[in-house]
Amino acid sequence: MNAASAATAEYEIYGIRYGVNPRRRRGQNYILEAKPDEPLTLDFYCWFLKCDDRVIVVDTGMDPDKAAHHGHDILIHPVDGLKMLGVDPAAVDTLIVTHAHYDHIGHLDAFPNARFYMQAEEMAYVTGPWMEKWWFRRAYEPDEIARLVHLLHAGRLELHGRDREIADGVSVHWVGGHCAGQEIVRVRTARGYVVLASDALHYFEEYERGVPFAVAFNLSDMIAAHDRIRELADSDDHVVPAHDPRIVSLYPPASPDLQGKVVRLDLPPSPREGRPR
Ligand SMILES: [Zn+2]
Repeated sequence: MNAASAATAEYEIYGIRYGVNPRRRRGQNYILEAKPDEPLTLDFYCWFLKCDDRVIVVDTGMDPDKAAHHGHDILIHPVDGLKMLGVDPAAVDTLIVTHAHYDHIGHLDAFPNARFYMQAEEMAYVTGPWMEKWWFRRAYEPDEIARLVHLLHAGRLELHGRDREIADGVSVHWVGGHCAGQEIVRVRTARGYVVLASDALHYFEEYERGVPFAVAFNLSDMIAAHDRIRELADSDDHVVPAHDPRIVSLYPPASPDLQGKVVRLDLPPSPREGRPR
């Protein structure tokens, strides 16, 4: 690849809907929610980015035992989802960890040749004094944190400062809020810059209404993250939350047989209801 083409890499973005919790209620999702008992399904995603032969994986999904423990349903093993789409986990060399909650780092060992990238603040957080408090540690699993420590000591986990380019066209940006080291991923695509908000946005509603999600480390950072996402995405149609059940109806499937399972987030969404255009 010459220098000119290297500066214009455009990625396809695949979102694998690997899990779901249809029993989730609004009161579990939003702070000071007016209708706490109304259902609001929580979907679970992991992602990968593809440009020619280059594949970058973003988060690894949730371990099935952890899913059962936390009351979520696994639809497809995340690693099987990658294989189904032609991604060989052993061939993945770059893996972005947006944060270390159990639904994002459940399969680190499935990528034996990957280098992992995570915010330094997240590592300090998950191995430091805030974990004495149940409120802050409740979405972390200590055995998975231990895996991160092992990867760090093995030289395979690279901790970075707040903004970092991972590859041409792919950068990560600290926003905090949901957890101390929450980051978002900005990806150049054929339709412009898409922001995978990861858990900086679980639902479109947080972004649309400016309301905080119920799992929080720092509320001011969480709300300020909405502005950072707006800055980095080409439009509101370029913003992708991590857990919203509307994603599968807004974005085209990767192929007709993958309807409801794998979406193409680099392609434009259909218009969303309830939001000014
Ligand atoms: Zn999550």
